Amino acid sequence: MARKIGSRYTAHQILGRGSAGTVWLGEGPEGPVAIKMLREDLASDQELVGRFVQERTALLGLEHPNVVSVRDLVVDGNDLALVMDLVRGTDLRTRLDRDKRLAPEAAVAIVADVADGLAAAHAAGVVHRDVKPENVLLDMQGPLGPGGAHPALLTDFGVAKLIDSPKRTRATKIIGTPDYLAPEIVEGLPPRAAVDIYALATVLYELLAGFTPFGGGHPGAVLRRHVTETVAPLPGIPDELWQLIVQCLAKGPASRLRASELGARLRELLPLLAGMPPLDVDEPDTEPVEEEPAPSAPAATGPVRRGAVPLVPGAKPADSNRDTHTSMRVPGPDELAGGAHGTARVPRAAGAPRPGSARNRAATRRRRLTLATAAAVLVAAVGVGTWVAVSDDDADATPRDTKNSAPASP
Ligand code: ADP
Repeated sequence: MARKIGSRYTAHQILGRGSAGTVWLGEGPEGPVAIKMLREDLASDQELVGRFVQERTALLGLEHPNVVSVRDLVVDGNDLALVMDLVRGTDLRTRLDRDKRLAPEAAVAIVADVADGLAAAHAAGVVHRDVKPENVLLDMQGPLGPGGAHPALLTDFGVAKLIDSPKRTRATKIIGTPDYLAPEIVEGLPPRAAVDIYALATVLYELLAGFTPFGGGHPGAVLRRHVTETVAPLPGIPDELWQLIVQCLAKGPASRLRASELGARLRELLPLLAGMPPLDVDEPDTEPVEEEPAPSAPAATGPVRRGAVPLVPGAKPADSNRDTHTSMRVPGPDELAGGAHGTARVPRAAGAPRPGSARNRAATRRRRLTLATAAAVLVAAVGVGTWVAVSDDDADATPRDTKNSAPASP
């Protein structure tokens, strides 16, 4: 069913849906395009429409082979649409869901492409603020690169900033996945280019490991880990590549590489990584939690266990593994009041089981969080920032549904 968008574009069929709106395959004067129709509540927000128009020049000016260019912005009655280059392919999240983890050569080639796209954006004074696999599109019609990777393009430039107004994020809205948020954002500093580097290094880690370095469990716990924890090395990763990741995950933004340098350094590593299989990394939540290791058990060598700082002072020493965090659950209001079990849910973390899956049921059986601890966790998490609270409406949202909802800059 064709739909007219402004005087120049026609939307033909839905390509996909995101949290900010629906993306259509469309046609314009110069051929096929992708048209992102913003959600009705966003499109009817006068303040947002005003900023949309203000940002027009910056958004339209970004041209780079690794950036999905915005061709036009259309305000038409109640419709607000971004007209973009059409990328025939899939997004990186879909690829990661399918493959679980990528061979280092392909992962590095993809991330190097994104770093090049970011370098162009940063040079133009644009910070993306929402770098994550969902926002990387793989052009399946483009030439195959190192490791069989298709060209990668970063999309949704400027959308996070447009949608992110204090009015929206100060309310009890979930922030989507906090897995990619740089520590300085958690601490309330304005997002500068280095936040994109941190997020991109997180994506690289995720492509290699199959899970993000600080993800899992309650959003408040994830945010705290960004600020306080160091990342554990991935088994079998070449040291040069690991050092790049560590440098770009530095807590201090000034210590991270710039995008152009990151792209160049990653490309230098490609010959070293050629033909290397995906890393042999155990999923963190596949490890048993209930059995205490025998005192004589040898130290774990293979599986990755991140050291975790207890969120609740005085928590059991078992808090030193990721499972404790992935087992956290936000207590419902009735639970806090001492009633029956609540059902409030947190977003599914990267690597966490999908609701209803066998893994999820097994994980659920393992959950034994006392009410007192859960309440303390909630209080502690809310203290991290008012914007991590979960509204009833959004409590069921998965990270994929809640993109473009980075916190407001102060
Ligand atoms: P999300 O990335 O959260 O899934 P988006 O609104 O960005 O949400 O996109 C929804 C879907 O539309 C995605 O699955 C993506 O693959 C597709 N899509 C987005 N932008 C484009 C584009 N420029 N060309 C082709 N497909 C696109």
